[in-house]
Amino acid sequence: MLSFDNAEIRQDGFRLSAHFDIAHGARVAIMGPSGAGKSTLLSTIAGFVPLRAGRILWQGQDLTSLTPGARPLSILFQDGNLFPHLSVAQNIGLGLRPDLRLNDNDRARVQDALDQVGLTGMGKRLPGALSGGQQSRVALARVLLRARPLLLLDEPFSALGPALKSEMLGLVARLQAQANTTILMVTHDPADARALADQIVLVADGQASPPAPTAALLSDPPAALRAYLGDGLNAEIK
Ligand code: ADP
Repeated sequence: MLSFDNAEIRQDGFRLSAHFDIAHGARVAIMGPSGAGKSTLLSTIAGFVPLRAGRILWQGQDLTSLTPGARPLSILFQDGNLFPHLSVAQNIGLGLRPDLRLNDNDRARVQDALDQVGLTGMGKRLPGALSGGQQSRVALARVLLRARPLLLLDEPFSALGPALKSEMLGLVARLQAQANTTILMVTHDPADARALADQIVLVADGQASPPAPTAALLSDPPAALRAYLGDGLNAEIK
């Protein structure tokens, strides 16, 4: 369980509070207006932004004072998940050993991860020689090998077309099911939430709300979500 215990974030004039639990293995979409604090919430869980007050716990362990690297999670951003000067296999290998001193067993695991994301034989390429969808797969393969129980996704597939994005969400769901990973995914697209998330955390008006079931929230959205999604949501409901 991921717990926000009277958590308070402040950055300059911005503030956000959260006080709720997310169950182990849940798949949660984080939604809300631009600038409401969705990315900041993920960055705080990851340890890049300090809490002003309160605590964040994972399975009862207080994460608040842990460095980002010591936290039980992986995070994927929209861009910049790969090192351009390292090969695909090396980028994935970082998930096992940050110093890249891989033994034979490690290398076999990298190959296995490549197979699992459909990139067999592409280990020697540089990321720049791959399509956007293939780069996303490399980043997911690294997440797979890191095997952390929490996965934070900050719109990592929003630059992909609809078909590729849906393929990636399917891949995330498959990886999630293998390890019962808890997933928090920032998205502005209700279709993403329906595809991957069983619950939605609404971030608006200085507050991250407790998770609510996806179908129920999207079919009868609170005012802040309705105002944000506008016609897009109406089209979804019809
Ligand atoms: P969202 O992801 O919902 O669009 P963000 O989390 O990016 O919102 O931003 C939340 C607020 O925090 C905004 O007011 C933004 O201007 C502010 N903010 C974001 N990053 C920083 C930063 N590094 N330093 C100070 N303020 C920031």
